[in-house]
Amino acid sequence: MSEKQQYSLLPTAANSAATTTTTPNTTFTKDTAADATRYRRRLRIGFFKLCLVAAAFYTLFWMPLDDDSNDSDNILNERSPSHHHHHHHKGVHKAHHKDYRDRGLAKQYGFAKHMDAAVEQIVEGTLESNIVWDRLAEMTDTYGPRIVGSDALEKSIDWIVGKVKADNLSVTTEDVMVDYWQRNEESLHFLSPTRGPVKLHILGLGYSVATPDPVNGLTAEVLVVQSKEELDQLGEAGEVEGKVVVWNRRFDSYDTSYMYRLEGAVWAEKHGAVAALVRALGPFSLQTPHTGGSIAAKIPTASISAEDADLLERSQRRHQQQPEQYPDWPKVKLVMGATTDLDARVSRNIIVELKGREKPEEVVVLGGHIDSWDVGSGAVDDGIGCFIAWETIRQLSRLDQPPRRTVRVVFWTSEENTSVGGVVYAKNHPESKESRHVFAFESDTGVFDPYGIGFTPSQSQRNLLRDPKSITPMDYLAAAGEYFLGSREDLGYPGAGRHVLPNGGGADIEPLCEKGIACANFMPADPFPLPYSTSPYALTRPPLEQEDSDDSQERHQYHQGEHGHNHLHRRHRHHHHPDEAPRRPVDSGYFYYHHTEADTMGAFTPEQAKQSAAVMAIWTYIAAESDIEF
Ligand SMILES: [Zn+2]
Repeated sequence: MSEKQQYSLLPTAANSAATTTTTPNTTFTKDTAADATRYRRRLRIGFFKLCLVAAAFYTLFWMPLDDDSNDSDNILNERSPSHHHHHHHKGVHKAHHKDYRDRGLAKQYGFAKHMDAAVEQIVEGTLESNIVWDRLAEMTDTYGPRIVGSDALEKSIDWIVGKVKADNLSVTTEDVMVDYWQRNEESLHFLSPTRGPVKLHILGLGYSVATPDPVNGLTAEVLVVQSKEELDQLGEAGEVEGKVVVWNRRFDSYDTSYMYRLEGAVWAEKHGAVAALVRALGPFSLQTPHTGGSIAAKIPTASISAEDADLLERSQRRHQQQPEQYPDWPKVKLVMGATTDLDARVSRNIIVELKGREKPEEVVVLGGHIDSWDVGSGAVDDGIGCFIAWETIRQLSRLDQPPRRTVRVVFWTSEENTSVGGVVYAKNHPESKESRHVFAFESDTGVFDPYGIGFTPSQSQRNLLRDPKSITPMDYLAAAGEYFLGSREDLGYPGAGRHVLPNGGGADIEPLCEKGIACANFMPADPFPLPYSTSPYALTRPPLEQEDSDDSQERHQYHQGEHGHNHLHRRHRHHHHPDEAPRRPVDSGYFYYHHTEADTMGAFTPEQAKQSAAVMAIWTYIAAESDIEF
């Protein structure tokens, strides 16, 4: 996929024209400039997600599998043939941890002795308690999900600020004006042809308007389509007018699907549709629709579960294929009471800082976004990303001496709808002699087993003409990953977190990456790493259209696959020898949870939380202690 294809997602002039939208509950004016900013920001978020996927594919197809048998032999061949499960109590894991570090790497790349000691201290400090998981559980259990504009988000921010102060860390906040979208009452019923009103599973999409009658909703026939091309054809034939368009595009990746969520209502509205329903953006479903941002249209829009989208499609087919038995198009009743208030509230970015001991003006910034959608508890997206960054600075503050460079953790606000928290941060902290960013690091693809980082060097390093023997930032980080993490066995599995893949970034740090600052993202291992990064849902659902040969091949391999049983039963997997399960960087497994009611503390374990915090802290320490230019 190319950047050009990304740009083809740009809205047409007609879409971005100023419009006034009136609903019975609220009146607001969308101004062109704000809209254009939102479109651009969403494209950027999409671009970074695309980068993550590209990095994942690079790893899947060009890099050896992470089974720790075929790479890093120079370091790992000394490893004892029998491995033990490690108990992460203070002192115990240390006794089990054997040091296989390649001292040659230390010499070549200048990893000083005191860095070894600091890394040991970080791992020991992080593994000794469940503070990361416990704190996030306490906050999310108490305040719930944190949609931007809500009191729940601001109460969560206050709670964090109080706890950070109790950690004796220096903390400030900065104000950010944010929108407030509320879903209010919403429901969808399948009326006919079926046994009677059947309640379907929906989640309204962010920025959607209400149904014209927010209490009684609208009743209309559905029109299930797979693609924009299909809708445009039917639209020209006048078959979309007055219908509820159901986008039932099968999920293959987030980057090829999310524009249906983002623009599906705008596309349907042009042909006279009265509402747009979008199949959930996920590879697997247990009646879990996925909410998320959409470009506000004059018609309401919601996500429906994959199962319900298929149910409506089957019903439409019956009508088309057996018209005598099923003379009517399937009909639904949609009720939505959503309201939008633009620039309605003040939210805050939280900033926690640890001054550098030698180069306080050079800043390594890291974090995640503290806002979430209004479903589940926002634990995966992105509570845990924020909390492993918080644990990172807490651990670094406990070292014998702070790192050379300043370490700054930011809990960015309002990522989910406009990413305005990251924009305000970049504006409030411009690059100067007294303070400049040298490394920006974000975690926003969940926390499962740690895998590694994605990395993009700074513009100046990219432009440097190099002697082929010289050390690039990428070389440096790859060596550091190998040296500090490659021989560890106490962070979940041997070598957990050591990988460095090309392309790093994130929606909140994107304004910094855009300025040419080096950017990285924390990368978990895929929680459901099925062969060829496909999904149980795709493999078990009956084919709707033509089944391509690749798919049936995948199905065959899935059933025959030696790894299948390990991946599907993760508790079982942990009782296996840690070497047995190869890891892949996060891919579609993250989208089981993304923006759903299933985004809760149940998605990951206390062990994964602390292991990931240790990995993030080690990478941050490497970036902050090193004196190389990234
Ligand atoms: Zn997120």
